[in-house]
Amino acid sequence: MPLSLVDRVTSLKPSATVEMTERVRAARASGRRILALSSGDPSIDTDPRIIDAAERAMRGGATHYGPAAGLPALREAIAQREQARSGTAYDPADIIVTPGGKFALLTALMATVEAGDEVLVPEPGWVSYGPCVRLCGGTPVPLALLDRLDLETLERAVTPRTKAVIINSPVNPTGRVLSAEEISGLVDLAVRHDIWIIFDQVYCDLLHDGRFPSPQALPGGRERTFVVDSFSKTFGMTGWRLGALMMPAGLSKAVLKFMQHSVYCVPDFIQLAGITALSLYDEVVPQYRATFRRRLETAVAGLSKIEGITTSMPSATFYLFPSIAADDVAVAKRWLDEIDVSSLPGSFFGAPGKGHLRLSLTCPDADLEEALERIARVGLAA
Ligand code: PMP
Repeated sequence: MPLSLVDRVTSLKPSATVEMTERVRAARASGRRILALSSGDPSIDTDPRIIDAAERAMRGGATHYGPAAGLPALREAIAQREQARSGTAYDPADIIVTPGGKFALLTALMATVEAGDEVLVPEPGWVSYGPCVRLCGGTPVPLALLDRLDLETLERAVTPRTKAVIINSPVNPTGRVLSAEEISGLVDLAVRHDIWIIFDQVYCDLLHDGRFPSPQALPGGRERTFVVDSFSKTFGMTGWRLGALMMPAGLSKAVLKFMQHSVYCVPDFIQLAGITALSLYDEVVPQYRATFRRRLETAVAGLSKIEGITTSMPSATFYLFPSIAADDVAVAKRWLDEIDVSSLPGSFFGAPGKGHLRLSLTCPDADLEEALERIARVGLAA
């Protein structure tokens, strides 16, 4: 019998977003000029001062193993940032630094989910939630959440095996921010059914209007919420792999064992660069936000003129999730093949995303303008 790999990996669907990125890369390598509206990687070059901080740290010898939970100074800075954002006071001891938000999510699931447990995952939602639940032996149960978090739907989805609910706000792929009522309803339900909340807030610094309600700020929410955070989208630091997991008081010592026995720690020089990034927050982040807001406005104005496309300004992120009066997979394929514009079909993010496209405005302004012209030329028709 030949050796074989186990279901844990073979049964996972490959990441549709990563696959599209690879297809765009291959098309470009073959000489095609692709206008990419598909990448979740913000077009922000990491600020040179952040790069300098990493270089200084490396030259200064910060190239050894560091503390598994992260550098105390970075955990303190993350706690201060969270206090300013949601008003929630975290003891830095309840925060661990992770290699990106994705690993923070996996760490939270590793700590809370075991074989046979069900975890509610939002749909349309980020493509890694279900696979991360499966990696922990759990079963992802889709929770339809296109226009709002309907508390009755949520209530119906809960079973005696439900262990946790993953909620993402601002939402990838729609750019929506969950309202105070939705968040407080979520916390009430989680308290009533005694389930964990895993709250993914990696886009919360890219808020264009309104407030950003979070479950960890509510009574009853704090002690059952794991907060997934990241430097990737806020500072254009996707490739640095720097994120954080904030958790209820007293749990980090046990949770940390997963870090210790897996990746061990985030490199110190990356963490030191992260401290510099947070110190530049007030200067740089408003500029990034303004750039994305301007692009979203341009795209909403351009797309709204096209027959069959309906869209409006999202409250946050750099994503648009227009509804289209056509098959989303066919349109995305056609735009890529015929006009060299890459996008992602909404159905890649779960069944309720069908009939939408996710357009990510992470390309340069000139590319966006050109992509909009090309889209206007061919429209949706097959
Ligand atoms: N959550 C969501 C909703 C995301 O879209 C992403 C990245 N695309 C992540 C988490 C993870 O980002 P990172 O690991 O780069 O922090």
